[in-house]
Amino acid sequence: ASPVKSSSMLQSMKSLGTKAAAAALDWLGSNEATNILNDSTASMEFELRLAERVLASIDWSNYAARSATVWTKHQRPLPSDAKSPARLAEARSAGLEALDCGLLRLAALRFSECIRHAQPGSSDLAVAFANRSLVFKRLGCYAEAIADAEAALRLPYGDERAGKLTGRIADCQKRMSVSKSSSVSQPAAASQSLLRDFNPQLPHASAKLQLALADESRGRCLVALEDVDVGDLLVSEPAFSAILLSNLRDSHCSACLAPCQRLLPCSDCSVVGFCSETCRDNDPVHRVECGWLAGWLDSAFNASIGRLAFATVIAAGGPVSAAQAVAKAKNFKDFESVFGSAGDYQSVLALVAGERQRESRDLAQRVAVACQMALLLSVESESNSQLDVAAPLVAALLRHLMLVPCNAHDVTALSAPPSRLTTSSSTDNGSSVDISALTIRDIGSAVYPTASLINHSCDPNVSRVTCPGLRLEIRALRPIAKGEELLDNYGLHWAVHPKQQRQESLAAQYLFDCDCVACTNEWPLYDGLLALEPRWIDAIAKDDKSEVEGADKNNLDDVANFVVDPTIKAEVESTVGVVAEFVSSFSTSAPLLANELNSRFEARLLSLIRLLQRRVRRPHRWFNDAEECVKMVWSARGCLDTGGTD
Ligand SMILES: [Zn+2]
Ligand SMILES: [Zn+2]
Ligand SMILES: [Zn+2]
Repeated sequence: ASPVKSSSMLQSMKSLGTKAAAAALDWLGSNEATNILNDSTASMEFELRLAERVLASIDWSNYAARSATVWTKHQRPLPSDAKSPARLAEARSAGLEALDCGLLRLAALRFSECIRHAQPGSSDLAVAFANRSLVFKRLGCYAEAIADAEAALRLPYGDERAGKLTGRIADCQKRMSVSKSSSVSQPAAASQSLLRDFNPQLPHASAKLQLALADESRGRCLVALEDVDVGDLLVSEPAFSAILLSNLRDSHCSACLAPCQRLLPCSDCSVVGFCSETCRDNDPVHRVECGWLAGWLDSAFNASIGRLAFATVIAAGGPVSAAQAVAKAKNFKDFESVFGSAGDYQSVLALVAGERQRESRDLAQRVAVACQMALLLSVESESNSQLDVAAPLVAALLRHLMLVPCNAHDVTALSAPPSRLTTSSSTDNGSSVDISALTIRDIGSAVYPTASLINHSCDPNVSRVTCPGLRLEIRALRPIAKGEELLDNYGLHWAVHPKQQRQESLAAQYLFDCDCVACTNEWPLYDGLLALEPRWIDAIAKDDKSEVEGADKNNLDDVANFVVDPTIKAEVESTVGVVAEFVSSFSTSAPLLANELNSRFEARLLSLIRLLQRRVRRPHRWFNDAEECVKMVWSARGCLDTGGTD
């Protein structure tokens, strides 16, 4: 790759952005723009007209034609994305040093870096695989060690050293068979519950739900058609598009987001890794972004928003399909009514984008990035660079760039430090899990159109879990009565974030003022709530006024409720014992975790929540504790994540 040519590619990208932003600002100040924005029935009309005007005024066709001749394949990747012999050498000596010091996980990371930077088919690549294979063997990850040794043997590698690798493979196989025969049989993983009651209006939602209009300002929402019980599965939806957080690229597959120690390199760039050849050879997003990732796309627009907007075009079938879908969307008179019936991508386009609430500068910045991405797409995917495709494509990208921040969901995984938990089949038997060390961690960002229909509350009544295959499951966090609206939490919860912080953050990212029950009634933070501790109950029972002085009156009313009915009091106390047991640490082998949590705690926690729903007024510490516990149990059913370093 020629650095001069590469930097001129970035230069033309920059100049395109500047020109497009200026043209957009120009048009946004016109009467035509104001009129279109005020006509709320015109679907995609605003984005399309804006794209057409901008592309015409920057002479797009000429621009695209010139770029197509300059950006030929051999000029990729950008220097930042290219495989680098210097980085390879650095990573190799750092890896060997870590190996010497016994820092095995660090050594594995450094040798993975060597693998990403080595040229395909080279002896450097063979050495890097062989080195990582040794690290895996020492870690006790025999399956991974064998796979890496075999990868090295398929590459040019000296005969003498090859003998050593063959010996290592045989040794690992022997150790694996020993650990297999001594292992206890593991129960099958908890079966995934699927939606049995199909909803024709909302293909990924339970038949207990319906799409409704909340009010003019809040738009569409999901409402319970009948009573919903705590724990009911309400939405089970595949990701329309998804991306991995860029800081996890050395520990997770870029295509399927699975945690993986043994990443395979991209053959053309040094940036991403894949868990398998299948993922490597079938990732349509990386095929287009390869070479442009670290050098441009990662920083093109605000963290991961730009990359998810870009990936959503590929998920829609590529630039030409996306452009056709936009042209079709233009004919829907009532945009919001097409949800579900016109296909998944139309449902994505119909999500809230906040175009009317945005400032001209904000819109112009998004138009500029949309034009740059369209240029990259039209050159790299060799699609038609003519205006009739380019304008709807820019309109689609602009729409994505507006709707992603309002609608994208975090992809999460239940995560444990790797020293305490490993998914490697060869080392499961001895490992243990400390429940208190588990956290729910963000690993990516994805678009789920059905889940996006659920509005926000700082006091949500549903809970989301990312399951294997990036399927999103949404369950009722407490009983929801017929006619009640489903409410999700967009990140800030009343129990941990003060009202002012919640309001400011929601207004900035989601463009609305929250009027949920917690905001309206000024609920205190969790730490400011009086816990309904057994000693209060005892104090009331003994009528000991001194003990309860200064306590919250609302909670004391609830205390009185329990005292009135001693059987309920006993039930609460014994079930809270389960919560305490859950929170305190215990050990079990990794594959047993989900089963253990589900079979031992889920049913009891659900009954506790039903009971609390009837007997206490929220906000309430116990209620909050029970909800947090059941969320953790459900998360264990989802993705277990062991990526990262010690
Ligand atoms: Zn994968
Ligand atoms: Zn690549
Ligand atoms: Zn709120």
